[in-house]
Amino acid sequence: MLVSLTFDVEQDCPPYLNTTRGMEEGLPKILDLLNEKNVKATFFFTAEMARKYPNLAKRIIDEGHELGCHGFNHERFDKLGKDRAGIIIKKSLSVLREFGDVMSFRAPNLQFPEFLFSILRQNDISVDSSKARYKGYRDGIKFFDGVLEIPVSVTSSVLRLPWIVQKAIHRSLSEPRVYFAHPWNSWL
Ligand SMILES: [Zn+2]
Repeated sequence: MLVSLTFDVEQDCPPYLNTTRGMEEGLPKILDLLNEKNVKATFFFTAEMARKYPNLAKRIIDEGHELGCHGFNHERFDKLGKDRAGIIIKKSLSVLREFGDVMSFRAPNLQFPEFLFSILRQNDISVDSSKARYKGYRDGIKFFDGVLEIPVSVTSSVLRLPWIVQKAIHRSLSEPRVYFAHPWNSWL
């Protein structure tokens, strides 16, 4: 069974809150648990959180996880023009790449128009995970403008359901199962 665990690392529940309890309490616990279980995951960071919590971004790299990009300040890319989106992606990557290699991207709110994939490619991003089956994406893994799309399998809300209900949902997912959650999910 091929499973990919991914976390979107951002302020608590954007855009509704601007607290960072998830960063301070949630993310260190997630990292401790992954360490204990010897599981590697992908962490899509906003550049803002990497700047504010450089030790956590560093932990991702030092502990063998993948650092990905989740925009600068959780912008909605479907509401930006191509030029503005390009500037933000470049700026975010220049912050994140101070910590290590970054080759993957996930757009906030899983909203990333197809005409922006060429910008990812120009910025040496080779994998995107901004599309989701539950958001209407019907294709599987495929390339968009040279960037490999690996869609999210299921909404993070599923992970809050009672296990007996979740179990049936997990079983119905095709491989690779790509899950995502946030550092703030455990209490919001
Ligand atoms: Zn997000």
